[in-house]
Amino acid sequence: MLSQRTLVTGAAGFLGSHLCDALLAQGHSVIGMDNLSTGHLSNLDHLANEPRFTLIEQDICIPFDPGHLDYIFNFASPASPADYARLGVETLMVGSAGTINTLNLARKYAAGFLHASTSECYGDPEVHPQVETYWGHVNAIGPRSVYDEAKRFSEAAVMAYHRYYGVDTHLVRIFNTYGPRLQPHDGRVISNLIMQALAGEPLTIYGDGSQTRSFCYVSDLIEGILRLARSNEHLPVNIGNPVEWTILECAREIIDLTGTTAGICFQTLPTDDPTRRRPDITKARNLLAWEPRINLRQGLELSLDYFQSLVARP
Ligand code: UDP
Repeated sequence: MLSQRTLVTGAAGFLGSHLCDALLAQGHSVIGMDNLSTGHLSNLDHLANEPRFTLIEQDICIPFDPGHLDYIFNFASPASPADYARLGVETLMVGSAGTINTLNLARKYAAGFLHASTSECYGDPEVHPQVETYWGHVNAIGPRSVYDEAKRFSEAAVMAYHRYYGVDTHLVRIFNTYGPRLQPHDGRVISNLIMQALAGEPLTIYGDGSQTRSFCYVSDLIEGILRLARSNEHLPVNIGNPVEWTILECAREIIDLTGTTAGICFQTLPTDDPTRRRPDITKARNLLAWEPRINLRQGLELSLDYFQSLVARP
């Protein structure tokens, strides 16, 4: 593949920064864009001397134009439930004005476009596992709606730019993902529980821990996304690990891995917390010949050094 000039919005975030690494490894030039509202420059420190990488600090809600682009990955958005609860209006803005501004660039430069959508489009799903054809069960006015509806608006916008303007768009519905560079204090379950275990604190389980999630290791997810970006598929594709865990089982795995003896502490379940979530990845398997290779235990082991380095930090 020819080397391309690629834009990654949300480049300083967990997934955005891993995506930048993967694109650079493939020989592309990467412009990373981030307003640093939830992203961290430390995720990009290792690229400081990389001549093919440029970072632009920019809020994509304000129209911008970094010049000719071959491809755009739109990953800018607060993404953890705690972050989008804190930044509700910003989340709605980046998923609407931000997405439209970024789509306008793709249209202007005839660039490929891949948008990071989410399993949250399915809400608290009545269809299990979730297939891409399921329209979802979303509370449009609840506390999660700032994220869910912004992402659903983005999907509508992406499909419209494809249908009306012929932009070469792709939509990935991302399920729970973990790995190095997850922010230690952004409230997500894997980072919370590992950090608590390493600090010798009880692991916080919201509700009775019977709710389920399906956890994908970050390198598996990025591989699926890159395959989708090169495909001819314009409708949404689930990328995630189809092995489903209750939150209690996940906590037990982390207890086993870290050897913590501090136990578990049960707390109130947040409003509209989905009771179950598991991707049906038949479409990704057939279309992209992709499936995850790293199981939860292996992925947690691969992440442990990173979390330990955070604890060791002065
Ligand atoms: N959760 C938990 N303890 C924590 C953080 C999260 O029990 O310290 C639960 C949360 O209620 C949810 C699941 O773990 O059911 C996954 O939460 P996360 O915030 O990682 O992402 P979500 O899948 O809800 O977007």
